[in-house]
Amino acid sequence: MSASPHPGIDGLSTRAVDIAYGRDVVVRAASISLTAGTVTALIGPNGSGKSTLLRALARLHRPVSGEIGFADGTDLRALSTTDLARRITLLSQHRTTPDGLSVQELVEFGRHPHRSRLRGQDPGGAAAVRRAMAATGLTALAEWPVRALSGGQAQRAWLASCLAQDTALLLLDEPTTFLDLRYQVEILDLVRDLADEHGVGVGVVLHDLDQAGAVADRVLLLEQGRVTAEGTPDEVLTADNLSRAYDIHVDVRTDPVDGRIRTRALGRFNARTPA
Ligand code: ADP
Repeated sequence: MSASPHPGIDGLSTRAVDIAYGRDVVVRAASISLTAGTVTALIGPNGSGKSTLLRALARLHRPVSGEIGFADGTDLRALSTTDLARRITLLSQHRTTPDGLSVQELVEFGRHPHRSRLRGQDPGGAAAVRRAMAATGLTALAEWPVRALSGGQAQRAWLASCLAQDTALLLLDEPTTFLDLRYQVEILDLVRDLADEHGVGVGVVLHDLDQAGAVADRVLLLEQGRVTAEGTPDEVLTADNLSRAYDIHVDVRTDPVDGRIRTRALGRFNARTPA
């Protein structure tokens, strides 16, 4: 782990946070932390509250109770929109692409909190945009309209826009959705590099439990709005935890070659014995 390149923003924590839609409380008593240089994976069944929690961390959804604050003591609600966007960015699952926007323009949009108010100057902007496009394999597609991209290319373009924003904290909601095998691996490698080499604190929702085990330092398991397990991948990705949370028998093994956790849900299709 390296020191944060954004001094004073070494983490973000929630304390006893409840989050609701109308009267429905969907996240209860969540006390979690994201730390500089650390990848924290959020896992759990559909509807367990992972996206809602990420949205609250990005101040897109206001909790009904509890507190969210940075490690330097700043309350999440105290920052201006621009100051917040300099500290934290979210790759959301839901987004609309304005017509006519090119890949490069979408990535440049990520620089908005860094432009000076008077003349829109951003000395580091061009280099940050170039780096973000190269890291996501988009340099050759810079002039393409975003609307013409495949699902996976568009996912990478939105991720590049987040990277160009150059924040201390990066929230990713299912970043590997739509991506083919190569880009799933490359994006998760990139996430690891951001934490290890740039001290970024990453919170990432992942459905693939093996990927969560491989990329994360810490794993949070959510069930019906509650964090029911928290710790290292070995501590959280156990057969008991996963079988209970997903309501299906999950087999967990350690790969003898790379020492990684391998999970397998045992449905009828993969319990069959060969004829
Ligand atoms: P996850 O990311 O774990 O799949 P979500 O955070 O999306 O879970 O959803 C948690 C709960 O909140 C679910 O019961 C879901 O139906 C509900 N929910 C999510 N978004 C909304 C919304 N916009 N309005 C009302 N309920 C919602």
